[in-house]
Amino acid sequence: SLRYTTQNEPVLEYRRGSKEIQQVQAALDEYKSKVTRIPCIVDGEEVWTKHVQKQVLPFDHKHVLAEYCYADGALLQKAINSAVKNQYKWDLMPIEQRANIFLKAADLAADFKWRSRLLATTMLGQGKTVFQAEIDAACELIDFWRFNAQHLASALAYQPISTRDSDNIYSHRGLEGFVAAISPFNFTAIGGNLASAPALMGNTVLWKPSDTALLSNYVVYRILEEAGLPPGIIQFVPSQGEEFGRKITQSPNLAAITFTGSTKTFKTLWKWIADNLDNYRTFPRLVGECGGKNFHLVHPTADLTTVVYGTIRSAFEYSGQKCSACSRIYMPRSLSKEFFSQMKTIMSKQLRIDTPLKFETFTSAVIDRASFNRIKAYIDHARSSSSTKILVGGEYDDSVGYYVQPTLIETTDPKDKLMKEEIFGPVVTVYVYDDNKFDETVDLVNDTSNYALTGSIFCQDKQILEQTRQRLVNAAGNLYLNDKSTGSIVNQQPFGGARLSGTNDKAGGPHYIFRFSSPLAIKNMK
Ligand code: GLU
Repeated sequence: SLRYTTQNEPVLEYRRGSKEIQQVQAALDEYKSKVTRIPCIVDGEEVWTKHVQKQVLPFDHKHVLAEYCYADGALLQKAINSAVKNQYKWDLMPIEQRANIFLKAADLAADFKWRSRLLATTMLGQGKTVFQAEIDAACELIDFWRFNAQHLASALAYQPISTRDSDNIYSHRGLEGFVAAISPFNFTAIGGNLASAPALMGNTVLWKPSDTALLSNYVVYRILEEAGLPPGIIQFVPSQGEEFGRKITQSPNLAAITFTGSTKTFKTLWKWIADNLDNYRTFPRLVGECGGKNFHLVHPTADLTTVVYGTIRSAFEYSGQKCSACSRIYMPRSLSKEFFSQMKTIMSKQLRIDTPLKFETFTSAVIDRASFNRIKAYIDHARSSSSTKILVGGEYDDSVGYYVQPTLIETTDPKDKLMKEEIFGPVVTVYVYDDNKFDETVDLVNDTSNYALTGSIFCQDKQILEQTRQRLVNAAGNLYLNDKSTGSIVNQQPFGGARLSGTNDKAGGPHYIFRFSSPLAIKNMK
């Protein structure tokens, strides 16, 4: 009796003084006033290992938010053994019963007891403003849980043809072995989805959350537990990346990896799997959502206000730390002067860069020192190269938090590394083209980057828009027409990219859960 829904969880507004914001404030105060200690959870048991790590506030890095335990090789092995042992029974549980656990988790997350904790830990640990935390750790997480669970109905709907002689039955099983879920810092919802979607399908999971999203991801785990997830189905195992990667790829029982993170790390996992190919019981399935070099392509007929506000939001919200963030712009000369002038006004006068806990803040610090250093190197490159110019921003300061100012760069070299490489920070580069060279520019958009995650075309001429869309059909997994390149919503714009941006299995879309199914076809003679 699973019902297919078309509703997304409504995004709440957090007005100053409202009841909702008071509850979030109380949770913020609580988490700020203590250091939360976080164990590994293996076979349902808390394990307090000696390898204790710290999670700090990105916008105030002397403040320790949480201390968490790393799982070492031996504990990871225990987690694998438990997952493998539990998979068979979990898979036999009726699929609707499993689905109900995740629907319950969604309802728990929607309620303020947990919603305010999800928000507070995402704001503090990952440096998100309340709005950015709401669309991620509340709404998208809830949407993933509901959508995936309800979507099982379509899994059950297909039945093969039976004949006079035989009944034919088609059913879904989880994958034999275990699934490894490796999730990123930038969306709490992604961690929740990566760990939950395979479990829903009858798999058991080793979940390695990102070090810099530990506390919010731990809250997600506790919600699942309260919703009735049995012990030993999802093993919560924070661990050092290489150690985890080696351990899972060396296990003969690895059935799948679901990964969101850098293209480089995803490639490394493929290589390690190749190295172990003779050891597996089954071919591991690899599901990955990786990097992007997302474009805003602006046609001379574009509505400039839409482009300006779309760019501010896509490039700089959450300091550009979304896989989908706009980071290269192709701007016609006829609009460029006005574009730069409007961007400059907004960026220098309206965008407040401060702690995420203040209402007025537009965006805060980037996640950690490694990010800060990487982004800084790109800004320094822009400063020293003769073909690029920093138009706005370009300042950075890590004395208190890892602050990088939103930065607008112009380049005369469309193949500069600023137009090619993923920066994952609040830096966007513009190449100005001559209006009569739009055709060549479309080729540039398509050929400059090996990524194909998101992109936007801004154009008010319907015919040119359609032609351009056709020419860029392989340049993005999520293509936006006259809108910014970020902000995909579950079951509205299933999300994922092709080329080096990943396997394009589309989180929040209909196929995702089936990547973790091993269907069984039975012929039963009458
Ligand atoms: N789905 C998100 C968006 O459209 C981005 C997800 C990610 O950063 O991986 O903005």
